Amino acid sequence: MAEELIISISGMRGIVGQNLTAAIAAEYGCAFGTFLKEKFSESGEKLTVCIGRDSRPSGQLLTFAVTAGLCSVGVDVVDIGIISTPAVGVMLRHLDCAGGVVITASHNPIQYNGIKLLLDDGIAPPLDVTEQIKRIYLDKDFAQVPSVDCGRVGSDDGARQIHVDKVLSLINPEAISAKRYKVVLDSVNGAGGPEANILLGFLGCNVNAVNFEPTGIFAHAPEPTAENLRDVCIQVKKSGADIGFALDPDADRLAIVDKNGRYIGEEYTLALAAKYVLGKIRTNVAANLSTSRMIDDVADACGARVFRTAVGEANVARAMIENNCVIGGEGNGGVIDMRVGPVRDSLVGMAHILSLMAETSKSISELVAELPSYHIIKTKFTADKKKFQQITEKVAESFPDAQINKTDGCRFDFEDGWIHIRASNTEPVVRVIVEAKDKHIAEKYLNIVYQVREAI
Ligand code: MG
Repeated sequence: MAEELIISISGMRGIVGQNLTAAIAAEYGCAFGTFLKEKFSESGEKLTVCIGRDSRPSGQLLTFAVTAGLCSVGVDVVDIGIISTPAVGVMLRHLDCAGGVVITASHNPIQYNGIKLLLDDGIAPPLDVTEQIKRIYLDKDFAQVPSVDCGRVGSDDGARQIHVDKVLSLINPEAISAKRYKVVLDSVNGAGGPEANILLGFLGCNVNAVNFEPTGIFAHAPEPTAENLRDVCIQVKKSGADIGFALDPDADRLAIVDKNGRYIGEEYTLALAAKYVLGKIRTNVAANLSTSRMIDDVADACGARVFRTAVGEANVARAMIENNCVIGGEGNGGVIDMRVGPVRDSLVGMAHILSLMAETSKSISELVAELPSYHIIKTKFTADKKKFQQITEKVAESFPDAQINKTDGCRFDFEDGWIHIRASNTEPVVRVIVEAKDKHIAEKYLNIVYQVREAI
């Protein structure tokens, strides 16, 4: 049986040729264009949307389909080609667009693709707006226009450089150039290789770019996890590089490998980037509830506050705006620096981490060793919403003294660790993230969740 097409806060995601077809993509384009026309109905001006895509072979087809949908409701389109997701966020504001579209399924395997929507502020729509667009799509209530008013299509190939320049403006490139770092860059044949390579070139790095060509034929499973980066880790060690950077296919996530070929992990990406920024400017931080406590430690040391949010880039970005945070993100390697834009950005992560290394003259291993050490376990199991509620209530009974945050599922904070239990928005799955000062304590907390689940 074909999987159900997912329409969530991250847009539409499905398997190309099964539940995600050109016809569906065109209608989703119609729906987004119709929504934008209603939103900006008082302006009376013709609207423009910019569209970029990751490198999947199905990307061009879906770009054309969404573009056709947008044009059919009278919205102009600027195609910015194969590009990272954060660059679409940068370009839509650079071109003063009413919205943006990214054709990407992020870290999902090649058979998937997706249509991610961005509003004019560069952030994915909040839940109520997502529902509004979904309703227009399902009702096929499209604001089609006559032939003379159809949207026109243009292109712009400047996005890579514009994105890189924004990132460079945050840091001191000379400090990094002087170090002549040797870097292994794995862009997993995704969209981010060329942009990352330009950035690292400006920073005077000697780049060994692996899986570089943006063909969309991923050289390994595309999520930048330890398991998927084994070969890259070997490459970093063998080549004598100072650091390895691994991106996901749309380059909004960044994982780090140290010179010994050790997978540092994505949780460190945000902690290290925040450490650099907070050492330079006074600001606060936003991070989702599943993000390591390292971010609290880093913020504490700089007198900054951490605002915890529901999981999801848009939730973090909106909290950053509300609380005037320059830096924030998610523990999956997603760093947001508002000075570039409200989108997770692997180039921002690389720039901040190399800056921290250069300005402290420390290796990535030394910088990691300075952070408090935690053991984090991320797991999931099948359960419906009702069971999720029951589990959460029973776990709460087991920890009457825990600090509880119910912004997104339930997070229990203890002196020596925390548990975050949340129901997936897109599948009948409960995600459990446990972090503690050591493995033994983390497993103890996780076992309590499992015992509760078994008892229900
Ligand atoms: Mg991604």
